[in-house]
Amino acid sequence: MSFEIIDFHTHPFLTPLTNICDHTDVFDMDTDYTVELMKGLGVSRICGSVAFVGEYGSCWWDKIRHNNDEALRLREIYGDFYIPGFHVHPDYVRESMEEIERMHAMGIDLIGELVPYLDGWGSFTNKNFYEILSLAEEYEMTLSLHSGEVPEQGMLAEHFPRLKVVSAHPGEYHDFMRHVEWMKRCDNFYLDISGYGVFRHGMLRSGIDKCSAEKFLFGSDYPTCNPAMYIGAVTLDPSIKDSERELILSGNAKRILGL
Ligand SMILES: [Zn+2]
Repeated sequence: MSFEIIDFHTHPFLTPLTNICDHTDVFDMDTDYTVELMKGLGVSRICGSVAFVGEYGSCWWDKIRHNNDEALRLREIYGDFYIPGFHVHPDYVRESMEEIERMHAMGIDLIGELVPYLDGWGSFTNKNFYEILSLAEEYEMTLSLHSGEVPEQGMLAEHFPRLKVVSAHPGEYHDFMRHVEWMKRCDNFYLDISGYGVFRHGMLRSGIDKCSAEKFLFGSDYPTCNPAMYIGAVTLDPSIKDSERELILSGNAKRILGL
């Protein structure tokens, strides 16, 4: 490949507590493992938040802060290999806004992936969440969201035109087609191909034809999912052109994240 590959959607981990792989018994998964696996697949950079299944500390904010601090420690270990994403939480508006300021001051402008069901909250169309995002929009941040209701993610993107909103997981046919309609409508709404959906034959080609290759990003959701699957979906599908591969595998991430 004559271009870089960036995995837009990962959840790197420092300890077994934040390793969300279901099959840890078959690998020796330390921080070096992630680099070796990714580089072996041709991936030179990864992005995303630290995820944690279960509770931590005495309140949800303890867990958010723990995950964000772990992302900062991983950045120290990984250097340029890792572009951290951080969490905010709608039950903690002041703390979330302070976190946006803290991260922005360190050059970190990626929020998420946010996975509400892991962190005790629900809808993305939440008044407090919108208040938090108004500050993120001032910094023109990128927001990576776990799949939820497609219309509410699209409406969010429409409400914050200077925020770059990347929805995760194409899902099945009808959800995917709703993504496509919202992406056609909102210049700042994108989809990463991680998780469920892209194994449906023709799905990626159809999306590109309907709303252009500039709307799709390679993401894997590693270590839950196997990055090789999603790289293969882009590089081995003969219907995808080289110029489209470059956009999906890194060009769009570079443009959106300002790399
Ligand atoms: Zn994820």
